[in-house]
Amino acid sequence: RKADIECAMVVLGAGPGGYTAAFRSADLGLDTVLVERYASLGGVCLNVGCIPSKALLHAADVIEQAAHASDYGVDFGKPEIAIDKLRDYKDKVVGQLTKGLAGMAKQRKVRVVQGSAKFVSANELEIAGADGKTQLLRFANCIIAAGSQPVKLPFFPWDDGRVMDSTDALDLADVPKKLLVVGGGIIGLEMATVYCALGSEVTVVEFMPQLMPGADPDLVKPLADRLKKQGVAVHLKTKVVEAKAQKAGIACVFEGESIPESSVFDRVLVSVGRAPNGAKLDAEKAGVRVGERGFIDVDAQMRTNVPHIFAIGDLVGQPMLAHKATHEGKLAAEVAAGEKKEWVARVIPSVAYTDPEIAWVGVTETEAKAKGLKVGIGKFPWAASGRAIGLSRTEGFTKLVFDEESHRIVGGGIVGVHAGELIAEIALAIEMGCEVGDIGHTIHPHPTLSESVGMAAEVYDGTITDLY
Ligand code: FAD
Repeated sequence: RKADIECAMVVLGAGPGGYTAAFRSADLGLDTVLVERYASLGGVCLNVGCIPSKALLHAADVIEQAAHASDYGVDFGKPEIAIDKLRDYKDKVVGQLTKGLAGMAKQRKVRVVQGSAKFVSANELEIAGADGKTQLLRFANCIIAAGSQPVKLPFFPWDDGRVMDSTDALDLADVPKKLLVVGGGIIGLEMATVYCALGSEVTVVEFMPQLMPGADPDLVKPLADRLKKQGVAVHLKTKVVEAKAQKAGIACVFEGESIPESSVFDRVLVSVGRAPNGAKLDAEKAGVRVGERGFIDVDAQMRTNVPHIFAIGDLVGQPMLAHKATHEGKLAAEVAAGEKKEWVARVIPSVAYTDPEIAWVGVTETEAKAKGLKVGIGKFPWAASGRAIGLSRTEGFTKLVFDEESHRIVGGGIVGVHAGELIAEIALAIEMGCEVGDIGHTIHPHPTLSESVGMAAEVYDGTITDLY
C-alpha cells in the first residue's frame, strides 16, 4: 500500500514529551510529523493536568488568602464564586498555551496530523481520523509519547456523572456539597484543595498510612494540619471497597482503620494513580516490547528494543511528571538526529501544589534511613524566617539531606508556600555535586523564602555550624 504521509520522524502523542521531541527534531533538521488524537496539542499536562489544575489552585489560593486577611485587619467578606467565570478563566489559560503550541509547530514546519495512531509494522503507523478515514504513515524514526490515563477502579459506577476522574474534576461542573476524594496523592490533594476553597465539604480516604506517600512524613504534617483546620476530613489506612449510584448520591462502603462518618457523597473523585498507554498502540506489530503493565522499556538514550523507535514520558515509567517527559523528549530527538548523548539526570524534583506546597528532590530522609545511608540533615524552620512571618505562613521548613562524609547534598525537601519555586536550587546543587557549605556560603537575598535553603545548609542538628 502506498503511504499517504512519509517522514523522517513521527512523534506519536502531543503531550509535553511529544511536542518537545517534535520541535527539537524539526530544529535539528528532521522532516517531522506530530500525531495527536485530540484537536488541541499539549496532552494531559496542558489540557487536563498541570496547567488547568494550577489555574484553579491560584483561585483557591486567593480565596484562602482573602479569608485570612482579616487576621491583619483587611476584611474581604465572604467570597462569591461565579463558577462559569472561573471555568472560563481556566479554559482561557489552557487555550493560550495550546494555541501557542500550534503556532510553534507551524513555525517549525512540523506537520500536525489529527487522529488515533497504531503501528502496523516497524516503519508504518495507521492513523484513524475522527471522520473514520485512515491514513498510512511511513517513518524512518519514531518517538512514542502516548502518555497515560487515570486508573479507573472498576467497582465505581463510571457511567454516573457524579463519579469523576481528574479530568472530570477539572471540568468544574459544579461545587458539590459533599465531595469524597479517593486517594491522597498529589493529584487528589490538589483537587481537594481547590474544592475545599470553593466551599465543598471534602473527605479524603487514603489506603497508605500517610498522605502523599513518597514524601517524608515531616514534610506532609504541616499540610495535614492545615487541611484539618480547613475542615477536610482525612482518613488514612482506609479504602473504598464498594460504590453504588443512588438518587441521594454515590454511596460508598469503606474498609480500614478510620471509616468516614458519611457514606453518601454528591460527587466522588477517584485519584488512585495513572496507567501508561503503551499497550494500546499495537506496538508489538513494530516489534516493540511492551511490559505487562503497559510501560515500554527504554535504554539511557530512550531507545526501545527496536533501535529506530524511541519512547518517552509517562509511558516509560515513574515519576509521571511533565518535566521528566520534556527532558526525555529532547534527548530522544537529539539521539535520533545522530547526537551521542545519554539520559544522565541525577534527580527529578516532585512538587505538590497544595496549600502549603510540598516539594522534594533526590534522596528523602525516609529512604536514607531505610537504606542505612549515613546522612546529615540540615533543617531550617520557617518560624525563624522574617519573610514567612510577614506572610503569616510560618508552618513551613526547609531541609537538606547530605552525605555525612563528603558533605555532598543528596536530597532536600521543602514544605511551605512557594516550596515548588524553591526546590530547583537544591536540584541544581545535587546535579552540580555541591557540598552543603557551597549553599551555606552562597549569599541568598534577604528577606526571602529562598534564604531558608541557605540557612538549612548552616543549621545542622539544631545548631549553626560551618560544614565547610
Ligand atoms: P501526555 O501528556 O499523557 O500526552 C500523551 C498524548 O498522546 C495525549 O495528548 C494523547 O491524546 C496522545 N495519544 C495517546 N495515544 C494516542 C494514539 N494512539 N494516537 C494519537 N495520540 C495519542 N506533572 C507535572 O510535572 N506537574 C504538575 O503540576 C502536574 N499536574 C498534574 C495534574 C493532573 C490533574 C494530572 C492528571 C497530571 C499532572 N501531571 C503533572 C502529570 C503530567 O500531566 C504528565 O506527566 C505529562 O502530561 C506526561 O506527558 P507525556 O508527554 O508523557 O504524555
